[in-house]
Amino acid sequence: MSSPARSHPLAHGSCFCKAVTFHINDMDAANCAWNMYCHCTICQRISGAPFVHSIGFRNGAITFNPPLPEDSDESNSSVLGIYHTSTFLSRIHCKRCGTNLGGRGRPSANNPDSFLHGVVSVMSGVLAPEIRPKFQPQGHVMYKFRITESAANDGLPKFDEFPGEN
Ligand SMILES: [Zn+2]
Ligand SMILES: [Zn+2]
Repeated sequence: MSSPARSHPLAHGSCFCKAVTFHINDMDAANCAWNMYCHCTICQRISGAPFVHSIGFRNGAITFNPPLPEDSDESNSSVLGIYHTSTFLSRIHCKRCGTNLGGRGRPSANNPDSFLHGVVSVMSGVLAPEIRPKFQPQGHVMYKFRITESAANDGLPKFDEFPGEN
């Protein structure tokens, strides 16, 4: 039996065409900074979906191949592209197949203490199937922007914006 994950034994996830892979070096919960459904309008537009499930890891707990380019470099020649979607976050995508894999927190002049600073996130749909069960979402953020009520009765906490901000 073969699967995409087994053909890339060091990868814990990839884009659709597998030109971009990533490895989670330490799955300890302490390194997981973020594990939420997000209903923000940027996630909606970037993904094309009503909401996404993203999981953020602190520095060093996740590595990409090819490596993440410098935050300021949007014209890099790597197949891994990075695009600034806000002052807080850059999004990571595969230039070949178009998969949106996740994001990376940016230093922000407006919010240097942003909880996203130094956090690299991936969406659960690009995780290898065998590790998806380790990352059950903890709640919903930016819920006021929801375009579907499908999650209304899932029992998870819902935050209009981010936890502690409403
Ligand atoms: Zn790809
Ligand atoms: Zn979002």
